[in-house]
Amino acid sequence: MRTRGKEGRDAADDQRRLYRKPASIRKRVFIMGQEVENLVDHPLVRPSLNACAMTYELAQQPEYADWMLTTSNLTGQTVNRFTHLHQNAADLVAKVKMLRLLGQKTGCCFQRCVGMDAFNAMDSVTYEMDRALGTEYHTRFRRYLQHVQEHDLVVDGAMTDPKGDRRLAPSQQADPDLFVHVVEKKPDGIMVRGAKLHQTGALNSHEIMVMPTQTLSEKDQDYAVAFAVPADAPGILMIYGRQPSDTRKLESGQLDVGNREFGGHEAVIVLDNVFVPWERVFMAGEYAFSGLLVERFAGYHRQSYGGCKVGVVMCWSGQRSRWPVPRHRHGLACQGQDCRDGPSQRNTVCVRHRVLGGRPNRQPQAPI
Ligand SMILES: Cc1cc2nc3c(=O)[nH]c(=O)nc-3n(C[C@H](O)[C@H](O)[C@H](O)COP(=O)(O)OP(=O)(O)OC[C@H]3O[C@@H](n4cnc5c(N)ncnc54)[C@H](O)[C@@H]3O)c2cc1C
Repeated sequence: MRTRGKEGRDAADDQRRLYRKPASIRKRVFIMGQEVENLVDHPLVRPSLNACAMTYELAQQPEYADWMLTTSNLTGQTVNRFTHLHQNAADLVAKVKMLRLLGQKTGCCFQRCVGMDAFNAMDSVTYEMDRALGTEYHTRFRRYLQHVQEHDLVVDGAMTDPKGDRRLAPSQQADPDLFVHVVEKKPDGIMVRGAKLHQTGALNSHEIMVMPTQTLSEKDQDYAVAFAVPADAPGILMIYGRQPSDTRKLESGQLDVGNREFGGHEAVIVLDNVFVPWERVFMAGEYAFSGLLVERFAGYHRQSYGGCKVGVVMCWSGQRSRWPVPRHRHGLACQGQDCRDGPSQRNTVCVRHRVLGGRPNRQPQAPI
């Protein structure tokens, strides 16, 4: 729950907060063939951590409260909108405005909308499953979401499987693990195996929420599985996905490094016999609902892209918005809407500074 004011805090506080829980256990992550111990300070990860931390930081700023914060329909408490279930059209509009704002502030993907869209898809689909089949997935899911809201967690929305031969169904593949599937049902939960590709913000996530990737038929019912696990659960391993020109961030110097302060990332998540307790399982065999879940997620996610990508383009093209555009402390006249020069804007992005590789974003600059 985020109701505290911004006073006395700084961006590093958000970064520490984002990593507090995972750091206590430690994820298994490989970057360029090496297992990495200190993710927080890794130069390829840090910019994405900074971007994700903005989803916390802006929620502390009163001027953005209408977009970043809302009232939970589950608890009546104030929550970060990234953990919220949309209640009406106004919520959907506020979501797009929040995403556009974050795109403007970071100039990149801030990695938290896939989980938000997965919550909203999962909520209505589990409701419909329970009504049709007499299952109890919806109650479980809502209990889980309350936990997410209470701790303001980042949740990776994991839908895309490797898929192998696209002409074949999951159970027809030469390798049965090309789609995530249930390998064993136990009295207290399920064991799952497989992988998810292109996972946005996986390294910065507290939790992973897995969903099927396509419509399934009866013979593929073991693949009709949805659940949530901590991102550092035993059996989970992540492989950082390379980005074009990413080694520039490893070089010394400040020129020509692109968006040096912020960035996104995608990763492969390997699930190697991961145990999921029943209270975190939201689908296990109900293949007839797999396509519905995919479609509903895709609908919400498409809408999200209509917000964040617009913000990113506005940031990079230096478009004006309703905010004033003063001269930046560096003395470079910047047309980016984020270049307000007040102390509360110190952590924002300046398009020109980013392109030029300056350091305006986190440190106060000498006034001109
Ligand atoms: C930047 C980025 C971030 C992403 N983040 C996430 C994330 O956070 N979570 C997540 O789950 N996923 C994520 N994805 C994955 C994304 O959703 C998938 O890439 C997308 O769904 C396409 O799947 P694919 O890559 O397997 O491509 P494919 O399924 O191989 O599709 C490639 C092309 O082949 C066509 N095709 C595929 N199968 C057939 C067929 N049988 N017959 C005819 N044509 C076919 C498709 O229409 C498409 O044009 C991300 C992807 C990107 C690029």
